[in-house]
Amino acid sequence: MNRIQILPPAIAERIAAGEVIERPSSVVKELVENSIDAGATEINVMLEDGGKQLIEVTDNGRGMIREDLKLSVQRHATSKLRSLEELEKILTLGFRGEALPSIAAVSDLSILSRGHEDDSVHELKAAAPGMARTDDDLRKVTFGHFLNSPHGTRIQARGLFSQVPARLKFLKSQASEVAQVREWIERVALAHPKIGFKLVSNDRTILNLRPDSDSARIQAILAEDNHYPLVEARSEGAGYKIRLYWFQGLSLPSSKKLLQVVNGRSVRDKLLQQATMSGFRQSLLPGQFPAVALFVEIDPGLIDVNVHPTKTEIRFLNSGEIFRAVNSLIDASLVKHGAPNYVPEGAPTSSSSSSGSGWAGWTAPAAASTPSLWTVAEVTDSTERPHPLSYAPYLGTLFGTYFVFDDKTEMVLVDQHAAHERIRYETLKSRMTVSADSRESQSLLVPEPVKFAPEHRPTLESKLPLLAQLGFESELFSEDTVLFRGIPVEWGTQELRTRLKGLIDRLIDTEPSRELLWDETLFEKIASEACHSAIRAGDRVDTYQALEIVGQLFRCEHPWNCPHGRPTVVRIPRGKLEEWFQRRV
Ligand code: ADP
Ligand code: MG
Repeated sequence: MNRIQILPPAIAERIAAGEVIERPSSVVKELVENSIDAGATEINVMLEDGGKQLIEVTDNGRGMIREDLKLSVQRHATSKLRSLEELEKILTLGFRGEALPSIAAVSDLSILSRGHEDDSVHELKAAAPGMARTDDDLRKVTFGHFLNSPHGTRIQARGLFSQVPARLKFLKSQASEVAQVREWIERVALAHPKIGFKLVSNDRTILNLRPDSDSARIQAILAEDNHYPLVEARSEGAGYKIRLYWFQGLSLPSSKKLLQVVNGRSVRDKLLQQATMSGFRQSLLPGQFPAVALFVEIDPGLIDVNVHPTKTEIRFLNSGEIFRAVNSLIDASLVKHGAPNYVPEGAPTSSSSSSGSGWAGWTAPAAASTPSLWTVAEVTDSTERPHPLSYAPYLGTLFGTYFVFDDKTEMVLVDQHAAHERIRYETLKSRMTVSADSRESQSLLVPEPVKFAPEHRPTLESKLPLLAQLGFESELFSEDTVLFRGIPVEWGTQELRTRLKGLIDRLIDTEPSRELLWDETLFEKIASEACHSAIRAGDRVDTYQALEIVGQLFRCEHPWNCPHGRPTVVRIPRGKLEEWFQRRV
């Protein structure tokens, strides 16, 4: 007797549906995307019991005529794609013709639709897969409007997974399913500000987004309507355009508000997320994330959207270029506007311009005109330039830790340790771009041996050249020893042995991730070793040194934060003091 059998269609369909439909939010995603593809300007989503009992999506799109309605629930039935070549330039959200049949396989589906220029409304009840369809499943109904439009579609899915216990048991609490649906709608809504979205759960309105401008929609979704200054930046390259939006002063403990939209499709793309974070990492405390919306419009021939059945991932043909473009756009934007967790008080609160008064309007000398992964501040340039504190008298040092300046309308505090860390970091970084022979290295009188476990020898062999680039002179001495003969001048000699050991450990630990990121990740780790020898809180610093440090700080590319993201500068507005002394009510 043979062991292989063809699965009955009902089972095969349910298994296939599992790829596309995982939970209520996946049903909502597919239905809402269909509504957008149908040109809807209003989309209403209704849930009962977190979507387990009912998911209903109504739109005022172009609807379907009787024959299309009949076909819509067949597998691989689509109006969006006719040939494989068309996939190369696909701009609709759907194209696989899988959503409706998948939803029909795992719930009771009913569709009500009236096509554009059609005078009757039809209703289709999709029978469970494997059952014969009769004409009774498709009937004419008398039904009025679709969100005040004569044409449109209303789709209801009832009893999701009631026939698929394996999936049902993985559904979470009602609140958590609703939260996921909300999150999805928000992501999609970000990509389509001109469309109104409404979400109602058990008769309560959870979300109501009216058609709006790009920036208002971004404000609503990323900043939850709180007023943080919105920073905007744009760039373009061959076949693509990038728009970046982020909020000054807003950082969050999760990456939830790192949103990416590629050709109108909301995606969670690893490459774009990494490119974003590698730009922001330095300006944020560890574990903190910015609120960023990244819009990429790209020639559809340069991406593959058909990587995953749910189409939330994409592949870029020119991924390296896109990575660098995003990265340098963010770098330039940070140089211009400061870091997300530093809000200059009194900075413009609703505009996206950098022309506000005082510090917000100040632009670092390291111009944004030549951005790259390794843009470097002119930290070694000794010509004095005016900086934000040039004309503010230095009053002294507080607690042996903070330089105090009188900046007319503000008292300004500079953290000496954080500032010095930033300076060291950027000086070290600048070494990566200078030619090998002009790199200053400090020879050690007695070479310093550092031991390592012999199995790491090949790793070290491949990574030591990177140290040379930073100004270290080192060689593999024996099976288990690296010998240091010279170190970069900025590295300092405090606790030298421990820090060199730390450096070797970090070299070994750093994952050889994608080449693109490798240098940078490793560099960050190496540079953070450098910080240990920076001036510490409590170290005595005289006036001359204090002014020198502040001058150097403002020649840095990212003066507002230390490399770990802590602020270097804090300002206390005069008004605050007046408040404390009750001079003002
Ligand atoms: P796909 O979106 O990949 O084409 P679906 O299974 O999601 O596949 O939908 C099948 C077809 O049904 C679509 O191509 C479209 O023609 C039609 N359709 C689905 N939803 C709607 C809607 N809300 N309004 C108009 N047409 C729709
Ligand atoms: Mg679809």
